[in-house]
Amino acid sequence: MPVGTVSLVGAGPGDPELLTVKARRLLDEADVVLYDSLVSEAIRDLPPASVECIDVGKRGDGERTTQAEINDLLVRRATAGDDVVRLKSGDPCVFGRGGEEAEELAAAGIPLEIVPGVTSAVAGPGLAGVPPTHREHASSLTVVTGHEDPTKADSALDWDALGRSVTAGGTLVILMGVGRLPDNVAALEAAGVDPETPVAMVERASREDEFTVTGTLETITERAREVGIDPPAVTVVGDVVSVRDRVSEYLNAAGTARSTGGPVADDPAVPTE
Ligand code: SAH
Repeated sequence: MPVGTVSLVGAGPGDPELLTVKARRLLDEADVVLYDSLVSEAIRDLPPASVECIDVGKRGDGERTTQAEINDLLVRRATAGDDVVRLKSGDPCVFGRGGEEAEELAAAGIPLEIVPGVTSAVAGPGLAGVPPTHREHASSLTVVTGHEDPTKADSALDWDALGRSVTAGGTLVILMGVGRLPDNVAALEAAGVDPETPVAMVERASREDEFTVTGTLETITERAREVGIDPPAVTVVGDVVSVRDRVSEYLNAAGTARSTGGPVADDPAVPTE
């Protein structure tokens, strides 16, 4: 029996129309699909009944499947001859462990391919009318995890450097940042970032219940609490957020994408420039 291929596939932020054509084809052709908990229901429902679908976000006992168990399953199924789709939200290699899984597969001699997806780091802001870069507002884009404790000495992130990049006019996008929002905001303020810097948070981008809240570095923690922002959400910090004020009225006006139709909680106090 020839060894199967493992495709590490990005599912995008949730709207099935934001899947790549290749991802959509692979979901039809796979023997087995292993998906993460953040992959939307609408996308989980796409493979035909003949395709075996396994939720590796949760085990039967409710615990998370460990990375070692997932690696083992990928190798075992491919070795048994199955073509495997490893489906991850957004892009498989942006905070998605795609790189680690690719290394494991290569070490086990399993043929693999990487199928990039639309990452929430870019799509989340964009869907809310916030362009991650803009010639008049930002010429750099930094994407970080907000999950680490910024006060820890061994933090892998240098928040002073991140703060300087925002002060220099760059855009900062924080994933996995809802829980530690107050800590991350404090770290940016301690790094000297102007408290008036606009901030937006986009929850469940591209899903039917997408929700956006805006504020400033000074107000966003309170604003997010008021409106009840929950994960998954992406936070975008920088002057590019002001673009939303000029485009939001017309976002989705053509009615072609349901993805930006969700409610919003814009802060009228956000400086437009
Ligand atoms: N590989 C994914 C990121 C996985 S890390 C990607 O490229 O998008 C998980 C984090 O991604 C979440 O905590 C959240 O910050 C972000 N995220 C994923 N899907 C999202 C969505 N639909 N809306 C907003 N944020 C999302």
